[in-house]
Amino acid sequence: MITISKKKFKQYFESKMYSLYAQSIEGATNEQLLNVLCSVIKDIISKRWIGTRLGCEKEIYYFSIEFLMGRQLKSNLLNLDIEDTIRDGLKEMGIKLENLIEEECDPALGNGGLGRLAACFLDSMASLNISGHGYGLRYKYGLFEQKFVNGYQVEVPDNWLTQGSYIWETVRPNKATVVKFEGDVYLVNDNDRLKVIHKNYIPVMAMPYDIPIIGYKNDYINTLRLFKSEIVNRDFGPITANAKNHSGSYEDALKYKYYTEEISQVLYPNDSNYAGRLLRLKQEYFLVSAGIQDIIRKYKKNKLKIIDLSKNVAIHINDTHPTLCIPELMRILLDEEGLSWEEAWEITKNTISYTNHTIMAEAMEKWPVDMMKKLLPRIYMIIEEINRRYLNDLTDKYSDYERIKRMSIINENNISMANLSIVGSHSVNGVAYLHTEILKNEVLNDFYLDEPQKFNNKTNGIAHRRWLISCNEELSDYITELIGEEWEKDTNHLKKLEIYKENKEVLEKLAEIKLNNKKNFADFIKKEYEIDINPNSIYDVQIKRLHAYKRQLLNVLHILHLYHELLENPNFNMEPRTFIFGAKAAPGYYLAKCIIKLINSVANKINNDERIKNKIKVVFVENYGVSLAEKIIPATEVSEQISTTTKEASGTGNMKFMMNGAITIATLDGANVEIHEQVGDDNIVIFGLKAHQVLHYNKYGGYSALDLYNSNRYIKRVVDDLINGFIPNMDNEGRAIYDSLITYNDEYFVLRDLENYTEAQYKINKLYKNKEQWNKISLINIANSGIFSSDRTISDYARDIWFKGCEINGERNKL
Ligand SMILES: *Cc1c(COP(=O)(O)O)cnc(C)c1O
Repeated sequence: MITISKKKFKQYFESKMYSLYAQSIEGATNEQLLNVLCSVIKDIISKRWIGTRLGCEKEIYYFSIEFLMGRQLKSNLLNLDIEDTIRDGLKEMGIKLENLIEEECDPALGNGGLGRLAACFLDSMASLNISGHGYGLRYKYGLFEQKFVNGYQVEVPDNWLTQGSYIWETVRPNKATVVKFEGDVYLVNDNDRLKVIHKNYIPVMAMPYDIPIIGYKNDYINTLRLFKSEIVNRDFGPITANAKNHSGSYEDALKYKYYTEEISQVLYPNDSNYAGRLLRLKQEYFLVSAGIQDIIRKYKKNKLKIIDLSKNVAIHINDTHPTLCIPELMRILLDEEGLSWEEAWEITKNTISYTNHTIMAEAMEKWPVDMMKKLLPRIYMIIEEINRRYLNDLTDKYSDYERIKRMSIINENNISMANLSIVGSHSVNGVAYLHTEILKNEVLNDFYLDEPQKFNNKTNGIAHRRWLISCNEELSDYITELIGEEWEKDTNHLKKLEIYKENKEVLEKLAEIKLNNKKNFADFIKKEYEIDINPNSIYDVQIKRLHAYKRQLLNVLHILHLYHELLENPNFNMEPRTFIFGAKAAPGYYLAKCIIKLINSVANKINNDERIKNKIKVVFVENYGVSLAEKIIPATEVSEQISTTTKEASGTGNMKFMMNGAITIATLDGANVEIHEQVGDDNIVIFGLKAHQVLHYNKYGGYSALDLYNSNRYIKRVVDDLINGFIPNMDNEGRAIYDSLITYNDEYFVLRDLENYTEAQYKINKLYKNKEQWNKISLINIANSGIFSSDRTISDYARDIWFKGCEINGERNKL
């Protein structure tokens, strides 16, 4: 058992303070205190982390180009079940734990939902006793820090490694591997076997940095291994002896150093958008090759037979960024292990599984053949051979040339990573019911009809430990008081709350907890932004990446509508509302940045207009990320999930809000469909186009934004606001947004859904007037959120994908 007494902890802490900083606790800074605390915790868990596991079961490896972990201290203390001991121990030494929690940096090694999902999955795998590890990149600079200057987004580099290292990481130089780029590949005949010779390549060292992933009260510790790119020879010597164009001069050595270090230098700041740059391809192969080599080395050390790989190892690729796992595993099995193509292909397909995250064309990765050929010559040869054999099979089966062309991995000099992922894996899953149906019946229909057994749905989930137990302690404690603590290990037990749905006392207590969270958030906003918000107003929140399809624009246009109504009629019937936004835009995404400017300008105008008597406040928090989400979500009453139907594959923010008792206003998109199914019509507010309508418009046209604008005076009024000076200092940005709506016919159906959205918001307003009714709906949402724990999601992956057909799957199911 991992545990520690308060007395021991204090002794450790004090001596660690001396050994690390040669000073006493009294003079230490918060940063030093945090480092010491973290170091003590690492010591406590070290034996357990390094120690081998009892009962060797299958190892799961989760590859993701992003891991959006958030702070670790609080969740580690919670999972180790030592929070009280540590808090009390620190208190006796005159230290406040909360201060150290706030001192920790928030590693932003991801953009949004995809990276956060990977982090929640690691938490759940460890908590469910699954030996599942993450592979990712240790970006020197994570997602930029966002500041607003005159309402515009300004990006500041995220220097999260200010101390040179991260408090939770451990570097493992003895496990470093070399990844090879470029060069010349020859196939030679060696005793009747084809041998591959790779010369003149550029070697890059992949240095592993390990972060412990601690399971919930189960003494189970997995690893997130992040790779940093480095030169192969640290002493700057004849490092480039075998690399083309590198003669060994000092200048060449510097060039080489730059080439290697650039790879893990910075996270690409695009969310749901394909970058298409050479450096990104380097990052992807670097991650994949380092990870696969690591897996095979560990596997062989355990004296297991390579032919049995898929029985003992499962490799999961989070979207297509790690798709090169497929040809890289083939390369190792063929060139290094000497297997036949047929053997290698069978093993590869049986080992790898793939999650699709989006259907949007602009997010689909396609790499130019020439780029791949030059950067990764051997990998390209393997992809070509995979495709040659695949096309042969297809030609045997089908005569429809167009269809074969659509399914080809290589097409018009581009390599489709989605097609490669489907062909080279045994499982393809979408991330919510609707998304998977669209994959099967629309986007990937050719592949689905060809191999229907591969396709399955795994609705996303969230780590309820972070997103309820840890971020909303008061609510969490009250739930336990009402229904006992089983729900903490199995969120299905939250259903027991439903028996209290008519209980006045319980409903009032829930409202009181929400009000406390709202007050805390108001204090935070006052401190950070000097803005007063009213804790008795409705907190209406949209926090997520800024993207046209997520339709923050729909939200602001409605706010403008309310504003006009209030100006026309000061007695206009509405509960006071605080609209809260948080969102980063990709630095190159002009329209998204215009919308940020619009929200800030509208906020500035409305917040300073005394005529509307504080009925509306608009707050746009800077630098949205995990730590901010943890503060905002417990205080939220209305959760805005208003994407253009079919575009949001799942969403996970929607689940976090529901679990914290917010009421959702939503389109029937992504996992909103399943939230609706859980709570029923009366406990969610649904509006907008249905999936079949959007698909129909997309295929056959028939929508005119201009007609709507001309025929509806309310729509015209708010659209005109963009260009008539009503909102000051918005000339260029307002015009760009106006054009996206009118000139380019509103690709995301903002105006089409605006009237319906306004009615839905009116319904929210009406519901809120009846506090008891509102509180009841809130309770029903919490009670039915259990299915959205990522523990459920991970159990589904384990049962249907990773352990399918395994003997241990039977054992697992008994657990
Ligand atoms: C959950 C989460 C997301 C995903 O939010 P969506 O509303 O599903 O897009 C993005 N960023 C952060 C920091 C999150 O915690």
